[in-house]
Amino acid sequence: MRSSIKKLLNAFFPPQCLICSEKVSAIDSLCAQCWHQITFISKPYCEICCVPFPTNMKEKICAFCQEDKPIYDMVRSVVRFDDFSARIVHALKYNDHTELAPALARLMVNASDEVINNTDYIVPVPLHPKRLRQRKFNQAQLLAKFISRATGIKTIPDLLIRTKDIPSQSGLNRRQRIANVCDAFSIDQRNAHLIRGSRIIIVDDVITTGATLSECSKCLLQAGSSKVYGLSFARTY
Ligand SMILES: [Zn+2]
Ligand SMILES: [Zn+2]
Repeated sequence: MRSSIKKLLNAFFPPQCLICSEKVSAIDSLCAQCWHQITFISKPYCEICCVPFPTNMKEKICAFCQEDKPIYDMVRSVVRFDDFSARIVHALKYNDHTELAPALARLMVNASDEVINNTDYIVPVPLHPKRLRQRKFNQAQLLAKFISRATGIKTIPDLLIRTKDIPSQSGLNRRQRIANVCDAFSIDQRNAHLIRGSRIIIVDDVITTGATLSECSKCLLQAGSSKVYGLSFARTY
């Protein structure tokens, strides 16, 4: 019954590419042309920050992480944050294309074995309540929800609290971004007892400088977390 309804719906409303609205064979998918424009992050990459290496590199850790080891243990991301993936993120975040979330979450799970298999809780990067009101939902929380569904790992949605409404980070350089997020988060004391000794994945849609991730990690490590990982759909490099 359900499949015949689906066929009927497909005949009248053929599924469209989530980015360019081209007809596609399955719902919640991208057309071949859009798919080819995505730059997927693949090995070899730095074991800590996930930035790809030239193929002939023997080191496992990039020069940047060797010089200044991040506070978090490991980050995994699916695609390079460029003009094209920015359109996907923008569609999810600002145009209410929440139907993208399950597909993006699936890609994030597939790209993060080492993280997913060694973790106790998922924590989304929070939005400030003021921004949450403007945007209606927190895209990081939505991704976390579907990652939980796919993996069975529990999400604690309100563990991190954003205490400062920091301005949007786009257009700021690395130094300004780091100054911008300093002390911008705290821990919800009702769930603080869950952190001690736990391995936690911090989920966000995009990682740029890693400043937000570092600041969230700092809060969780101070509260007793044993390992802190980052997982995002896109990241810059
Ligand atoms: Zn397309
Ligand atoms: Zn690195």
